[in-house]
Amino acid sequence: MAFVIDAHTHWRRDPGFVSVRFISRNRTGRVDKEELFAREAVQARYFDQDGSKMIKMMTDTGVDMAQTCPVDYGLALGEADMTISDINACYPDLMKRWPGKFIYYAGVDPRRENAKLLFEKSLTEWGAQGLKLMPAAGFFPQDEICHPLYDLAMEYDVPIIFHTGPNPLMRSRPGHPLYYDDLANDYPDLKIIMGHVAGEWWRDAASVMRGKRNVYCELAGWQRRFYGNEEQFFKDLGELRDAVGADHIMYGTDAPAIGDMPLKGFRDALVNLPEAAGKYNVKFTAEEAAAIVGENFANMHGIAIPGK
Ligand SMILES: [Zn+2]
Repeated sequence: MAFVIDAHTHWRRDPGFVSVRFISRNRTGRVDKEELFAREAVQARYFDQDGSKMIKMMTDTGVDMAQTCPVDYGLALGEADMTISDINACYPDLMKRWPGKFIYYAGVDPRRENAKLLFEKSLTEWGAQGLKLMPAAGFFPQDEICHPLYDLAMEYDVPIIFHTGPNPLMRSRPGHPLYYDDLANDYPDLKIIMGHVAGEWWRDAASVMRGKRNVYCELAGWQRRFYGNEEQFFKDLGELRDAVGADHIMYGTDAPAIGDMPLKGFRDALVNLPEAAGKYNVKFTAEEAAAIVGENFANMHGIAIPGK
């Protein structure tokens, strides 16, 4: 039985976690009826008081553990009702309620005055095992303002996951793989995860990862590609594996953000990669499948896989 870890999810306790403009998906910044309706409409899916929706998703999908994190959109999309520090401080409760199910990464915009303090507190007091950064909010990964966070991540030996690829809500340019080449060059010992494998820019991401071996990727959003054109998905995944190695690719979904899509078919296809991709003459071994769906993430965090 494969041990499956989703390397990219977002637990959001309640609407206090996010700015109205994030929820409503429009840029006006006005709280009008339409926005409030949008807020209610997405509520059922996005908000999850005690984590039980996330657990149900994991159970239904066949996922054993999930990395989950807040994202600090405040400086780009308007502040949430809660401070980013108070939001981060909610994660220990989630982990206590569901032991062994969640790996929490801190989330903070490096431009905030308290960013370094917050990240350090998340590591020492709240059980964080990594950091999520959203450069699309208006900074670049190689910016000096990020360096104190990188230094901490290396001191505590934890990875940083970045949103990479185009971003419909904010700036796309800071998500281009070339900037992560700069970052990996400046920080060759920092563990860098390119979230979404940079989306449509995945071939550029692959070129960076091939040369800079401290850069990894996870597949969040690729469920769209899988359900859209299965054959193309497996061919692309095979090409990605040929370029970077199966040990640099991790399963991820961004749930529940891309939650209109069933995740089980996507998860099953990756768990059963040799057969599923074999249909299209793309060859994967069972070892590569196990690495992608869970072992790579587990190894990065020293998580023991049951029965291994
Ligand atoms: Zn995400």
